[in-house]
Amino acid sequence: MLRVTPRGSAEGGGPLSLSRRLVAFHVGGVALLLLVVLASVLWVSSEHNKLARVSSENLVSAGLTSLRTRALTLVRDYSIWDEGFDAVVENDRVWLYENIGVSVTDIRTFDLVTIDMPGHGPAYGWTENSPPEGETGLLPPDMLQALLALPDDGDVATTETRTRFGMLNGEPWYFAVSYVRPVEKFPSGASAKSLPRQIHGQRLSDDLEQLRENTLADKLHLTDAPAAGEASVALVDLNNQTIGYLAWAPPRPGASILRRVALPLGFALTIVTLISAISSRYAVRSARRLEQALVDATVADRSKTEFLSNVSHELRTPMNGILGVAQLLQTTDLDNEQRELLGILFSSANTQMSLISDLLDLSRIEIGSRHLIVEPFQPAAVLKDLVDMMRLAATKRRIGFEADWRALDGLTVLGDERAFRQIVTNLLGNAVKFTDRGGVDLRATTSRADTRAEITVRVEDTGPGIPKAMFDKIFDRFYQVDGSSTRSKEGTGLGLAISRELAGMMGGRITVESEVGVGSVFSLVVELDVGAIPQRTRDAA
Ligand code: ADP
Repeated sequence: MLRVTPRGSAEGGGPLSLSRRLVAFHVGGVALLLLVVLASVLWVSSEHNKLARVSSENLVSAGLTSLRTRALTLVRDYSIWDEGFDAVVENDRVWLYENIGVSVTDIRTFDLVTIDMPGHGPAYGWTENSPPEGETGLLPPDMLQALLALPDDGDVATTETRTRFGMLNGEPWYFAVSYVRPVEKFPSGASAKSLPRQIHGQRLSDDLEQLRENTLADKLHLTDAPAAGEASVALVDLNNQTIGYLAWAPPRPGASILRRVALPLGFALTIVTLISAISSRYAVRSARRLEQALVDATVADRSKTEFLSNVSHELRTPMNGILGVAQLLQTTDLDNEQRELLGILFSSANTQMSLISDLLDLSRIEIGSRHLIVEPFQPAAVLKDLVDMMRLAATKRRIGFEADWRALDGLTVLGDERAFRQIVTNLLGNAVKFTDRGGVDLRATTSRADTRAEITVRVEDTGPGIPKAMFDKIFDRFYQVDGSSTRSKEGTGLGLAISRELAGMMGGRITVESEVGVGSVFSLVVELDVGAIPQRTRDAA
């Protein structure tokens, strides 16, 4: 009864993991896809929100700037005026009230007008409905001072007009300041400090509605501190202090993009997930079938190999019996015909034995029961044996035989002598067997590094050669270039397969070069530890 544990079975966690890996791959792939799509959509929507917020901030800032520009234009229009200048110089408050104060405040251009005339005491001014004589002290002195403060150089041209934010009566205002002067030019000899100046002030809250319309800023309002998530623009006063903020709800186009794509995207992702689940189910089913087939095949292959091994072993015993009896028969009195028949019997039995040995060897290698024995041996001695043997075979076939292994003389290495012998026997055996004209040449060389020696055994022949396309195949089990039943050379197609396995187990390799009609070169290259010369060899020497 054979007990077989297939290589790579489920217990070993081998091929069966393919279907699990497929499932993991599909699930992982779909999860990754969903993640990437969702992350991209969220990223796109948040980028849209960011861009929209920045552009709304730019819009509101531009709106503020345009308010200030309008204030500058108006304050200048009301200040560059010959009669206005004369009225200020003459301190004609009634004229100023009627022509500037009333019109500016009545037409609701500004909430407050103040005129400062150096040398006429505190600045006077008007608010809506204030008396013709005007009022003094409309602006707190420190604010007035700050509004009228001039740069050190006091250059009239560069400081002609400007605007400022400021806090008045607890709320933000903006002020526009301009020199009061005749239309044509500044009065001759006028210095910045000596010219009268006019200030127009406006409550920012009065302009909110218009700002809202112009900038489309939703819920635009004034506040001391914007709430979280609100977009805002800071208002900086005369002393560079933040006096408040214009805040509003920033536009969120990303959110509306999300709302719009949510349904179709969800639908598309669901379909992708479904398709992937179905395809994964089919793929996994097929993989399971393949895995099972692989396991079955491995079991079958291993059973076959074990069976072959057992049978080969069982076949050897009777064959040994046959050969033994034939040998005994040889020692008896035989006539010529009987001797000839016995010769045929010997040759057939030997061929049979070598086939059985090859099968046994290969099956042992495949089921892992052929272990290498590491012990000291002298490759030169092995080669000498083989050369002696093969020279006889070559002479019988009337072909030449050259051999040179002097480079290995005196070298002892640690390794499996039997495997080394078997490989070289196969290479030499093939060379002699396949060469009908010319000859065979064996050359062995070695190169040493510290305690290691690389041995190369090169077997060259002038046989039929091997087509390049077959270089790999000839190392397959039972493969023969001429596989026909009428081929002229005997053989099993196992020698090179066994040799390659053995070379691999020794950490070496077999290479082939060949040209059809010219010949072939097979080389065994193997690196082994250099070992001590065995005691008995030294004693014998
Ligand atoms: P076989 O028992 O047939 O020699 P091998 O495994 O040793 O089996 O070789 C496989 C095949 O490779 C051979 O049948 C032959 O076709 C080809 N081959 C091997 N060595 C040589 C060679 N020296 N010259 C030509 N063909 C070769």
